[in-house]
Amino acid sequence: MSRTLFEKIAAREINADIVYEDNQVLAFKDINPQAPVHILIVPKKPIPRIAEAGPWDNQMLGHLLTKAAEVAHQAGLGNSGYRLVINNGPDAGESVPHLHCHILGGRQLEWPPG
Ligand code: AMP
Repeated sequence: MSRTLFEKIAAREINADIVYEDNQVLAFKDINPQAPVHILIVPKKPIPRIAEAGPWDNQMLGHLLTKAAEVAHQAGLGNSGYRLVINNGPDAGESVPHLHCHILGGRQLEWPPG
């Protein structure tokens, strides 16, 4: 099976502005930002989407969320707030089939989302 776009970013085969990395996750700036701060945090394991994660992924998914909060704080969003978004499937607008969590902030975000 071919490797995903985000696997290629992790392998430095495609350029990205990487802001955090450890052995389980990678965070980098979104190429088409929807807010002043828009970072993606992804597992290095190429799970296509959250619906395809299993209980064996629980440790990694917890790690991804706590790191998302740390990355948001490091990006200056600790006091103003931020939103974490995971799009799953066509109605949610999922466009890259490699699980990723959007970290959005730096402006007042609307609710409900469009
Ligand atoms: P989603 O629509 O939830 O699947 O989100 C995919 C996100 O990946 C979008 O916000 C895109 O702007 C972003 N994206 C696509 N290609 C790249 C890239 N090469 N580097 C950084 N972000 C990207």
